[in-house]
Amino acid sequence: MANSKYEYVKREFEFHRHLPASNWIVVRIDGCHFHRFSELHAFEKPNDERALRLMNACATSMLEEFPDIVFAYGVSDEYSFVFREKTEFYKRRESKIISVCVSHFTSVYDMKWKDFFPNNDLKEPPYFDGRVVCYPNINTIRDYLTWRQVDCHINNQYNTCFWALVKSGKTEKEAHQALKGTFSKDKNKLLLQQFQVNYNDEPAMFRKGSSVYRDKVKTDDCGNPIKRTREAITVSNFDLIGPEFWENHQYILGE
Ligand code: ATP
Ligand code: ATP
Ligand code: MG
Ligand code: MG
Ligand code: MG
Ligand code: MG
Repeated sequence: MANSKYEYVKREFEFHRHLPASNWIVVRIDGCHFHRFSELHAFEKPNDERALRLMNACATSMLEEFPDIVFAYGVSDEYSFVFREKTEFYKRRESKIISVCVSHFTSVYDMKWKDFFPNNDLKEPPYFDGRVVCYPNINTIRDYLTWRQVDCHINNQYNTCFWALVKSGKTEKEAHQALKGTFSKDKNKLLLQQFQVNYNDEPAMFRKGSSVYRDKVKTDDCGNPIKRTREAITVSNFDLIGPEFWENHQYILGE
């Protein structure tokens, strides 16, 4: 870089925050004003499947672009990206990591919009915010992902009831009122008795959110009896709260 007498403005004023070593780095992005954005673009309520699949496609592109992302979890207008513990991505510089994640995700959202909404033009630019949090070990990373999935469950169960009531003729105010103070089992009962909906039969993507990771898949090598495995970026909707998923995918958060 050329040296000039003005170079001091960088040397003396610019400071970089490096994220602590030996920590998993999580970047969570969230759509800005997506309540309005979703109405403006006529998202189906409570869950527009096209919009969720678009989010999943953007997350898949993130794993393709940034090899140090080992896992991503998304629900509604948010996605969390987990970088491996030892990543040296942008020398762990916080502002670079957040800004690159947010801008890559946003650009892909824009580029792929037409694939998922062929009949809806974008009426305003979608944009996302981002934050970063460091977690010191696998337990806290798993608790982080559990926290997001529990949140997904609570919100989705509420929204499923809310929109069932609204679609049946209640005003939004009446629907909120009807759900005030109800517990999870009350909501399941309401769905079953008033709407003949078994909550557990709702699509897993709505109830569990989406996970993106590199899965080990067996390749069929021209009849070769020795099966090889390769990694393929996979989107699934499994439960992350119990031990099963992590027992079957130990390599994701392992060394
Ligand atoms: P990094 O990811 O580290 O920023 P970079 O390739 O973006 O790497 P920069 O130092 O930011 O490197 O330089 C941007 C480069 O982009 C320029 O060197 C030039 O080659 C190209 N570039 C940017 N804008 C223009 C433009 N308007 N016309 C032609 N080339 C451009
Ligand atoms: P903020 O800018 O503070 O994040 P927001 O309006 O984006 O505000 P959120 O709490 O992030 O608020 O909630 C996102 C909202 O976007 C949801 O409440 C819902 O209305 C809407 N939304 C996002 N994804 C979908 C989807 N797939 N289907 C239907 N609605 C969706
Ligand atoms: Mg550690
Ligand atoms: Mg939002
Ligand atoms: Mg949100
Ligand atoms: Mg550049």
